[in-house]
Formats: sequence, C-alpha cells, structure tokens
Amino acid sequence: MARRQSGGAILVVVLLLACLVVGLAGGFTTRALTGVRKTPVSERTEDNEVTPAPTYESSPRVPVASLPEQTGEEPPASPQAFDTGRATATVEYLAGTLGYREQGTQAETAAAGYVVDRLREYGYQPYVQEVPITVNGRVTRNVIAELPGTQRPSKGIVVGAHLDSRGGPGANDNATGVSVVLELARILKANARNVPAVTFVFFGGEERTEGSSAGNNHWGSRHYVANLTAAQKAACAGMVSVDMVGKGTQFLANSMGLSRGTLKDYMLELGAPMGMGYRRDGGLSDHMPFEKAGIPTVWLEYREPAEYHQPTDTPAAVDYGHVQQVGSLLVQFFEQHLTGERVDAL
Ligand SMILES: [Zn+2]
Repeated sequence: MARRQSGGAILVVVLLLACLVVGLAGGFTTRALTGVRKTPVSERTEDNEVTPAPTYESSPRVPVASLPEQTGEEPPASPQAFDTGRATATVEYLAGTLGYREQGTQAETAAAGYVVDRLREYGYQPYVQEVPITVNGRVTRNVIAELPGTQRPSKGIVVGAHLDSRGGPGANDNATGVSVVLELARILKANARNVPAVTFVFFGGEERTEGSSAGNNHWGSRHYVANLTAAQKAACAGMVSVDMVGKGTQFLANSMGLSRGTLKDYMLELGAPMGMGYRRDGGLSDHMPFEKAGIPTVWLEYREPAEYHQPTDTPAAVDYGHVQQVGSLLVQFFEQHLTGERVDAL
C-alpha cells in the first residue's frame, strides 16, 4: 500500500516535470515556426493534436434570414478604430529591428513569428503554411488566420500582405501592408460587427528570389491558391492585396482585368471620393494567382514615387498618414460597405 502510494507520488512528480518541459518548449514561437510543415500554432503544446486547416466549408451554414446582426460576443463599449501608433510600431519592428527580410531566412521567419504573436493577442488561432522555394531549396511561410464572419459565412474574402522584402529593409514594401492587415484583423475581431468571413494571409516570398530569373516570385500566394480545393476556390469570393501603402502621390486600386472587376469596383465606389484611381496592372503583387484562378481581386497601392527594393526604404521614410488612410478605408469597407448583397454579387 505504502509502496503504491509513493510510486503514485513519483508518477505525479514526473508528469509535472514533463508538463513543465512541454510548456517551456511551447513558449518560443520562432522554434514552433521552424518545425513541421503546416504547423498549427497554439499557445500550449498540450494541444499536440494537429488542428486541420480551417476551410470556408467548415463555417456553420446558417440560413441567411436567421443571421443575427451581431455575433454572439458583446461588442466593445467603444468601437475600435485604426490605430496609427500600432501600425507604426509594426513597421518599425519589421523594417527597423529585423531589417532586410529576405525570403526563406531567419529574418523573414521572425517576421512571421511577430505576426503570429499579434494575431494570438487579438484572439485568433493562427496557423502556418510552409512553402518550398524550389529554385534554392529554402522554405518560406504563410501565416493564416480566419475570422468566421456572420454575413454570408459560406463565402470568404482573403486579405493579404507579404512579409518578405528585397534589396532593403522594406518599410514601404511591405511592412506598411502588414501593419494595415494586422490592424484590420484586430479591429474586425474586437468590434464583432456583421461582416463577411475574412481569411487574413501574411504571405512569405512575394518578391523574386535573389539571383533567379523572372517569374520566381509570389511563392506564398501561388502555393496558397494551388492548395485550395475546388470547393474552397469556389467559396473564395474575392482577394485584397495590400502592398506598398506608405509612399507616393497616387492612391490606386489595381487589378489585372483577368477576372470580374466587381471587387475593385466596390473599392473604387468607396475610395474614389478620397482620390483613389484605377490602374490595370500586370500582376505585380499577391493578387496575381488569385486573379489567374478567376477570383475577383484588388491590389491597394500608393505609387509615384514609391520607394522599394532600396536600402533607403526605411521606417523614417514612410508617410504614416497614407497608412492610416488605407487602413481606415479597409475598416469602413468591411464593416459598412461590403454588405451581404454585395458579397452575393461578387
Ligand atoms: Zn511588395
């Protein structure tokens, strides 16, 4: 009897130690990020089972008529608005502290870790999709987080920004886009208004791989689209890329003209009064693979002169008024402009 009790006590101590070790190992995001492919990122590694990647089909299919105006959560007392201070801190960390975030390097992985940490802080359960860079054998990463949405939950909009940079610290290109998409994710979660389902994707490897030929770019977004099932592709109603929004005099909604122009038309309805124009582009951002797959897209950008791929693309050279303008526009777009009827018409 006594022997059994002391054996039990030893077992308890061993189990406690094991939990402590596992808990400590789970505390390092960067370590978690360098692990297995398609790593589910969770705060505690007790949840060791692999969480399957959420899909649009996994959203509850509720008849439209019965949808509540709000989600079950109580909305905050004062609605959240775009916080330029948070956006500035993101740009300063990514482009100032980390600096040049070449795809498939530790700096790019650290940028992914920063985004994972912020998304968790905002109440998401982000996960990582690992992406092989076939021309040099390195691996880059997409960080993905889902907002279920209450309006047309069986359809979804992807909002993306790329984490990597080329030829410099990439403050404008594209820490600004990352800062805007992170703020949008924070606000849509906190305000819990009746919005469509949104998938936030922070793409790795958007830039052309150093030393490689044209076309060796958009690794993360090409991988993301290539790995959608036919049903997921059909449920992806649109894609917004936010890329280089901190410098220049022309505020642009770009698209390639390969898919229906509905999403960029909606964006222009809202943005034209504040000077937004339209440009047909050749697919120079992460919207390219989505548009080639027939999904309506829009790439939001500031240009002329837009500093990029230069050592001078630093946080100090960013116009944070532009960042705030684009971020506030996107909040308004999702919370007010993109009604269920507009989603249906995409
Ligand atoms: Zn870019």
